[in-house]
Amino acid sequence: MRSLYLFIALRKTGNICPCRLENPAETPPAGGRPLADWYTLSAEEVRRELGTGPAGLSPGEADERLQRYGKNVLREEARETRLQVFLRQFKSVLIVILVIAAAISFLVGEPVDAAAILIIVVLNALLGFSQEWQAGEAIEALKKMLVQRAVVVRGGERQEIDAAGLVPGDLVALEMGERVPADLFIVEATSLEVDEAPLTGESSPVDKAPDSLPAGTTLAERSNMAFAGTTVVNGRGRGVVVATGMTTEFGMIAGLSQRVEDEATPLARQMDRLGRDLGLIALGIAVLAVAVGLLQQRELLEMFLVGVSLAVAVIPEGLPAVVTLTLAIGIKNMMRRNCLIRHLPASETLGAVSVICTDKTGTLTRNEMAVVRVKTPGAEVAVTGTGYAPDGEFLVGENPIDPLADPGLQQFLHTVLLCNHATLKLEEGGWRILGTPTEGALVVAAAKAGLSREDAPEAAKEFSFNSTRKRMTIVYPGEGDFVAHVKGAPEVLLARSSRLLRGDSVVPLTDDLRDALLAEIAGYASGGLRVLGAAYRPLPEGLEWTEETVEEDLIFLGFAGIVDPPRPEAAEAIRLCRSAGIDVIMITGDNPLTAYAIARDLGLSSEGALTGADLEALTDDELASRLRTTKVLSRVTAEHKLRVIDILARERAVIAMTGDGVNDAPALKKASIGIAMGIKGTDVAKESSDMVLVDDNFASIVAGVEEGRREYDNIARFTRYLLSSNIGELVAIVGALLLGLPLILIPVQILWINLVTDGLTALALGLEPAEQDVMQRRPRDPGESILTRNAYLVVLILGVWLGLLTIYVFSGLYQVDLDRARTMAFTGLIIFELYNVLNFRSFRFPLHRIGFFSNPALIFAILGSLALQALVVYVPILQTFLGTAPLTPADWGLLALLGLPVLIAGEVYKAVMLRATVR
Ligand code: ATP
Repeated sequence: MRSLYLFIALRKTGNICPCRLENPAETPPAGGRPLADWYTLSAEEVRRELGTGPAGLSPGEADERLQRYGKNVLREEARETRLQVFLRQFKSVLIVILVIAAAISFLVGEPVDAAAILIIVVLNALLGFSQEWQAGEAIEALKKMLVQRAVVVRGGERQEIDAAGLVPGDLVALEMGERVPADLFIVEATSLEVDEAPLTGESSPVDKAPDSLPAGTTLAERSNMAFAGTTVVNGRGRGVVVATGMTTEFGMIAGLSQRVEDEATPLARQMDRLGRDLGLIALGIAVLAVAVGLLQQRELLEMFLVGVSLAVAVIPEGLPAVVTLTLAIGIKNMMRRNCLIRHLPASETLGAVSVICTDKTGTLTRNEMAVVRVKTPGAEVAVTGTGYAPDGEFLVGENPIDPLADPGLQQFLHTVLLCNHATLKLEEGGWRILGTPTEGALVVAAAKAGLSREDAPEAAKEFSFNSTRKRMTIVYPGEGDFVAHVKGAPEVLLARSSRLLRGDSVVPLTDDLRDALLAEIAGYASGGLRVLGAAYRPLPEGLEWTEETVEEDLIFLGFAGIVDPPRPEAAEAIRLCRSAGIDVIMITGDNPLTAYAIARDLGLSSEGALTGADLEALTDDELASRLRTTKVLSRVTAEHKLRVIDILARERAVIAMTGDGVNDAPALKKASIGIAMGIKGTDVAKESSDMVLVDDNFASIVAGVEEGRREYDNIARFTRYLLSSNIGELVAIVGALLLGLPLILIPVQILWINLVTDGLTALALGLEPAEQDVMQRRPRDPGESILTRNAYLVVLILGVWLGLLTIYVFSGLYQVDLDRARTMAFTGLIIFELYNVLNFRSFRFPLHRIGFFSNPALIFAILGSLALQALVVYVPILQTFLGTAPLTPADWGLLALLGLPVLIAGEVYKAVMLRATVR
């Protein structure tokens, strides 16, 4: 099973920066200063040393430095060379048996047999090599797609680049959820916290700020540095790159940390077991057969050949290579469908998924948001305009108003703009948002009123947004005191507000007012609008700024209703899931009414919506039973996701769970298959996932499931086909022996069948298109074996039939001409198997239903096998090697006729079974 071993050994991808450093030894520490003491400098000194400023490096200078310092990448474990992969093909017990057989044949004066066996061994190695190499290429391509991106300021412009292009002196922006792309000296930080566990082992996040530190400060205490390979878990900041690639702290220990565990896919393990079992069976049968032969007083050499033939017949040599290639092709197909597989087992798990827990925003919806209504305690306006263009009006009824003339509305817009990181940009293609769509929609609304953040002072403090807090705060210096601007889920803000702004006066927030506002919020949400509230608070002097002290006693300003239309393709994908027996559960941080309205629009039927608070009030059993009918979970946190996974797992569900934020990492790891969002997902989420959804689109997950099911079906198809062929060979050899006939097939002939003709057709079976009803069946049981009891039975019946037919062909001729009899048996078996392969195209549908020509590769494989067999039968040199004699056209015709019932029986059986199930 050598090819499988390799496939198992293909590396996990993307865990470490996908990196390669051209010449690490020649890369000097940036700026020529010993690496260790950057932290002793001030931000100004670091900038001066590295010749950079607030606008970053100029693009020209960055290019020049890239030449000088090399790429910002780690040295990767070298990929095996072609020769190494080729030579590894010979490390198998079977090959050893064959080489011994060749040696013995040579010693007893059969050099042609010996050479033939060796040639086939080499051919086999070449086949294995080419499959493995192609699989390796697929994985390499995958790695390339998982490159890390970094936001850098060059020539005053923010731009996103491949992190490999970073050079010392670059000014890099850091945001929550991102992996730090190089060693940085922090020059700006707002509540910046970094998880340095991969580097220092310290599990709690470390605060970062741009102060200089005394010499001798340990790595773990260098709070003015952010190191490559660590992740930002809170806040944001900027840093100047001081070291890249192998000269980073992480690079220096990379040799240690790059060793990634090998992992086997469950299917690979199953195949491995199958291979071992068959090996043992082969040995047993061979020993037994030889014993019987010796009792029959046959020649020792002949019995030796029988033993080798049997061993060769039982082991499906072509299987590992075909599995390897099919999985590799599957990964490529999934990539084409926007599912980037990071861990190999995921490609298999995807096909067995029985529950998909999906985010709403951006996955089921388009994530193209626009504020359409704003409600303040004193006014309600509609906002017009489409897309991100800042053109639109504020209407009361039909009448346009100036929003800045209403103090409440003006303060609302002002706050949502200041408590915001998105920026609006006019580019060639039109207006674009840099940042999240939710924040972008608010910036656009403010821009429609003529507001921008251009003259805003620098923020003094930030309490970042995350889906547990459901709010964020940025503190700015105000006219007198500092002012906290807060935005978030409106009910969360209302719970923290004691006053509200009505017109230009601040009034107490009574219970009645709060209830009235909550009712209005519910009205917005029921219409499918995403609702975002805003509040502010001038901070009392001397207040110590913590989340708790700042985000309380707020002045509520109102809320915005944001549209986020459902993705049109999501409704169809949900329908497909229903027919495929896959449960879809929407798990969102959003409001239950909004979530429910979107679910309804998408045809996701759910008995109401549960909130995070509801979840907490339910026992595990209660929750398990509610989950059978309630498919919308809202206002949930990452911890709730973990609990949902636990509960679903009790019912043996195979759970796919999507996620994007830092907090989602544990759930992504825990789910049977964690799916990170490719666009809005953070580096942390991606690194914890098994699969990255390139376009964030729910429909792509479903496409991936379909591909996974097809892939599994195909592996089942050719595994069963190859086994039935092997049983056919076994029956022919043992049957002939028991009947006292001469050796029916010589080892090279069996090798030829197993490796060449079967190999071709099995590969082509791996390309079989999905069955028509692939998404109308229930998900398979993940523990199910590829060889179910029924499958064994079919494989056995067909195999025995093929074997007996071969004996029949041989028995009528061997007394006249043994070579010709063998050639008939040899060619007959191949022809019978070519009929048989058509049986295995589908286990349920007859050929006329799946279309005779719907798998062109198989037609080519069948014709190719026949052509190759004709060469073997007629070309003299091949005749010598494979012990064949020429056949007449009538012989071919007879064999074709004899094999036909194999196919007809299969077709009739399927037609009858199909009719029975339809009824
Ligand atoms: P999903 O979980 O389906 O992706 P979501 O984006 O609504 O949906 P979260 O990102 O967890 O989920 O957001 C939860 C809530 O927090 C939102 O409903 C909204 O009220 C609020 N919110 C979202 N983004 C921000 C933000 N940038 N600032 C403040 N509050 C936000």
